[in-house]
Amino acid sequence: HTTDVKVLLLENVNQTGQAILKQQGYQVEALKSSLPEDQLIAKIADVHVIGIRSKTHLSANVLKHAKNLIVIGCFCIGTNQVDLKYAAQNGICVFNSPFSNSRSVAELMIGEIIALARQFSDRSLELHRGVWNKVSAGCWEVRGKTLGIVGYGHVGSQLSVLAESMGMHVIYYDVNNLMGLGTARQVPTLDDLLKGSDFVTLHVPELPDTRNMISTPQLATMRNGAYLLNASRGSVVDIPALITAMKSGKIAGAALDVFPNEPGSNGDGFHNQLNDFTEELRTLKNIILTPHIGGSTEEAQSAIGVEVSTALVNYVNFGSTLQAVNMPEVSLRSLTLDEPNHLRVIYIHKNVPGVLRRVNDILSDHNVDKQMTDSRGDVAYLMADISDVNVSEIKSLYQSLEDLGSRIRTRVLY
Ligand code: NAD
Repeated sequence: HTTDVKVLLLENVNQTGQAILKQQGYQVEALKSSLPEDQLIAKIADVHVIGIRSKTHLSANVLKHAKNLIVIGCFCIGTNQVDLKYAAQNGICVFNSPFSNSRSVAELMIGEIIALARQFSDRSLELHRGVWNKVSAGCWEVRGKTLGIVGYGHVGSQLSVLAESMGMHVIYYDVNNLMGLGTARQVPTLDDLLKGSDFVTLHVPELPDTRNMISTPQLATMRNGAYLLNASRGSVVDIPALITAMKSGKIAGAALDVFPNEPGSNGDGFHNQLNDFTEELRTLKNIILTPHIGGSTEEAQSAIGVEVSTALVNYVNFGSTLQAVNMPEVSLRSLTLDEPNHLRVIYIHKNVPGVLRRVNDILSDHNVDKQMTDSRGDVAYLMADISDVNVSEIKSLYQSLEDLGSRIRTRVLY
């Protein structure tokens, strides 16, 4: 029964997200902050669902006490705070919110492209100091200029559409071959992109391959007087190399929203950082520095709530793992659980030979309408819809599956 489902939400999960879970009739306890490990262990012991943000660490040590836990919702983008492998091996599915703030980032980029082209952050700073400095030299319209997008994923592709609507030409580079939106055109190499763009904007993930992806040789390849924007991850740009390129005038402006070592909390942490470069960055002309606010909007926060809560409901009520971070993605068309004798079997098991045969032996006494199975690493996920099981038979069906040696977790939804 949905009313038996216990949910613990930590770190002030947004109201839209909470409301979706309460509407299901789940018992929801929502706390404003995270919990120290001992209190977390005590609380996690009897909940079925936990919702967290980035500050709650769900290590193997914590998760081993979570005997009833079936699913974790990270109401944020990152999932480093959760031991994903341990969770999967113990049948605990993890969801996050991969693209609810993509639009916010793309809009910030549009604002910054125009701000850099018109040098208006400098003009504004000057006027704040009382200096009237009306200039047009080196200030441009963006219409007709070329925007080069590195990484054409959720953010990059949104930005592509917005930039074209302002009359920019768009080219992009991505490791995958992707269809361009509008008239955007993929180029085969990063060098082609750098040579062909007036503005270069970075939207790649943090990976060994993307570390210092833009360094001295890449900056030298860019057009004279081009602009660089980075709202991806701090490791992607070699900042000392950028400082040199800006001082020489090669790069006419830059916008940085992300940094190699970001302060953990608001305050004057950036100023105090032990990075040699912060002082120099702060003195450069036409550089916009923002404290990782690309995705920080009211809309993005509520979209995260909707996205993650909906995934949690679809997992609890229907076993769907679509968009899961640590499990194979398995879903069947929504089952009509109201119909008599219909049920759905979810069987999470070790990915070893011979399991499916044994499971199907057990299911073969019944009419299996649909079945889907997939694996990811050493964990596999099976979903089967059955249409002729009496309520009295459910227990023995469940027990037979539980008795198989390969079992990680069995759920029967009816
Ligand atoms: P995404 O996964 O949807 O897209 C990333 C794209 O980069 C993919 O198309 C991928 O194929 C491509 N890619 C991967 N490696 C590449 C490489 N070596 N060269 C070229 N292309 C490569 O990611 P997203 O949601 O669009 O996010 C992009 C970046 O923005 C991420 O680093 C993310 O962490 C960051 N981000 C920052 C903020 C912020 O507040 N500033 C908010 C959201 C996302």
